[in-house]
Amino acid sequence: MLSSEIKYAVNELSLGHVVGMPTETVYGLAARIDCASGIEAIFKIKERPFFDPLIVHISDFNQLGEVVKTIPEIAKILANTFWPGPLTLVLPRSQKLNSLITSGLDTVGVRMPSHPVALDLIMAAGVPLAAPSANKFGKTSPTTAAHVRNEFKRENIFVLDGGESQVGIESTVLLVRPKAEICELSILRKGHILKSDIENALKSQPFKYEFIEVADKNQAPGHMKHHYMPSVPLVLCIGARRPSEELREVMQKRLTELPDKIEEVAIVKPAAGIHRIAELVLDEDPVLAARKFYSQLRELAETKPDCILLYRLPSQYTERWESLFDRILKAASLVIP
Ligand code: AMP
Ligand code: MG
Repeated sequence: MLSSEIKYAVNELSLGHVVGMPTETVYGLAARIDCASGIEAIFKIKERPFFDPLIVHISDFNQLGEVVKTIPEIAKILANTFWPGPLTLVLPRSQKLNSLITSGLDTVGVRMPSHPVALDLIMAAGVPLAAPSANKFGKTSPTTAAHVRNEFKRENIFVLDGGESQVGIESTVLLVRPKAEICELSILRKGHILKSDIENALKSQPFKYEFIEVADKNQAPGHMKHHYMPSVPLVLCIGARRPSEELREVMQKRLTELPDKIEEVAIVKPAAGIHRIAELVLDEDPVLAARKFYSQLRELAETKPDCILLYRLPSQYTERWESLFDRILKAASLVIP
């Protein structure tokens, strides 16, 4: 990356503007954590509700201590194992942190991205950057600089081009809650780092831990039923062999019956019935499928079909597919069994 572009981005950040930042997961919309107007701008530009917290991105292990209250031993091991990389650790927050970033929670999500341009930018800014995915709230996440520029044409934000995001879906979010006897771990969002990867990293360690499911929604903010939605409806049809006239009629009927909004996210419906169907074909390799998924959704939506249909599913559904299927289920307006 040209240092002049990084310099320009650093200046934008210090003026309280947001900057499009490439990361290995998806592109982020970044602001300095110590700049309230920049943080506010993220929520405004994204049209993001204030209850959905931002992830703090760091470039140096020392910065972790600046944003959290304490670093549990298990978190140190996980950070050493997976950082820089697509794992966000949710830890007790420092009181100094702007509470807009954490949506008023007593925890903060932190990660060190592995993308060299993200690391360069954070280092040059000299302060951690808060960044959610660089898309309008509820919409498909961006995996190229062009996606970000298209999404925010009107806002005209500066975007650093770091090529195609290699992971392609958002980071794994892990809540780490040390208790007296045992440390509780909860995966709040599935991602490229798997539960089995985390178990492997902790295998030879003396610490006691257990995975628990967090039922309390306040502990898992930003987990709406719908998210990542393309501009035309995505329909997942699990049982279909091929798109038929009968299936088209079922989709049309069911889509028009849907409510307009679920949990603040507008449900995407066909404007004038389903006439033209675009088919989404996933790569057979789950890593490549995840890398390409969001850009496939965008490319197909740009051809302006009445709906996007996904019916060819992987023959072997392994743990590796889970994070992508989480995104597919949330991006879909309709799932037909
Ligand atoms: P985004 O970068 O747009 O995918 O959004 C960041 C996501 O990280 C949020 O929607 C939450 O799911 C998660 N997250 C960030 N901070 C926290 C936190 N303190 N507690 C729980 N989840 C968090
Ligand atoms: Mg997002």
